[in-house]
Amino acid sequence: MAKKIVIIGSGPAGLTAAIYTARAGLQPVVIEGFMKGGQAGGQLMTTTEVENFPGFPEGIDGPMLIANMRKQAERFGTEFILEDIDRVDFSSKPFTISNSSRTLATHALILATGASARILDLPSVKTFWGKGVSACATCDGALPIFRNQQIAVIGGGDSAIEEATFLTRFASKVLLVHRRKEFRASRAMQNRAFENPKIQMILDSVIEEIYGSQLMEGIRTKNAITGEISDYPCRGLFMAIGHTPNTAFMQGALELDEKGYIKVRHPSTATSVEGVFACGDVIDPHYRQAISAAGTGCSAALDAERWLQANNLG
Ligand code: NDP
Repeated sequence: MAKKIVIIGSGPAGLTAAIYTARAGLQPVVIEGFMKGGQAGGQLMTTTEVENFPGFPEGIDGPMLIANMRKQAERFGTEFILEDIDRVDFSSKPFTISNSSRTLATHALILATGASARILDLPSVKTFWGKGVSACATCDGALPIFRNQQIAVIGGGDSAIEEATFLTRFASKVLLVHRRKEFRASRAMQNRAFENPKIQMILDSVIEEIYGSQLMEGIRTKNAITGEISDYPCRGLFMAIGHTPNTAFMQGALELDEKGYIKVRHPSTATSVEGVFACGDVIDPHYRQAISAAGTGCSAALDAERWLQANNLG
């Protein structure tokens, strides 16, 4: 039998949509997903302190915030399934979503699959992945191999600055490598990094190579202006170079923009397929905040609820 509503994604957007649709009596099913080896709960699961989510004057741990949202959704009757979805079929109603072990039919669908961290396109990234190279400072930064070592972060956005600052807790020194002089990060974050004596900026520079033997031992950079090549010994390299929306499995099923984000009819969360709604980072290359994702999660729930009612399916 078809479900009334299925939500794919379990970050702040998906869980907020679950809380709202569960309270509306729609018995939502949340496909938590773990993005092929990642983990359920989205990007907040790899964050330490969240200081800007309203309602927590002292801040809250990212995983704790997600655990609380999940509990709240569960309390109102949300069902959770921990699996990735490989295929969606919107060509007939009810819609179907499936993977190798199951197919679910649903009248309405909310896509809240978020975005994933980008990694540098260098063969040595694969060679030293897990041997010093990582895309998540909050997951791996405290590992013993990085203690009191020099480590590097690449990127010039808020993530890079946040990760570099976080890593100064463990490292003897953090090299912040950025391909330009100007940072994309907010002024407040930049100031924090510039004032930190443990952070050294390596600007106008790209990473050409990561080298080492069993573990990574350093990076080779090239100055984009002078062409000068430099070697920096370091035990770790953390990538913070942006994100890609998690929409690969829905290509061709609905309209995406040129970067792969789902197109919605602002201010609503309706996608190009009637009955399919989208929210969170998968529709938002701009703000990408937990609170804005939760906000659009609420909108998607209300949009879906109204659509189900209007079609006598709720
Ligand atoms: P951004 O897209 O903002 O920044 C990505 C950075 O990586 C840019 O500086 C970019 O350089 C650089 N970059 C991209 N590709 C490459 C490459 N191939 N080689 C070298 N450098 C590369 O991503 P973030 O993850 O930093 O931030 C995403 C959003 O999340 C932003 O809106 C940000 O404000 C928000 N955020 C907020 C936080 C907070 O408020 N606490 C914390 C973290 C993120 P260039 O600048 O030259 O394009």
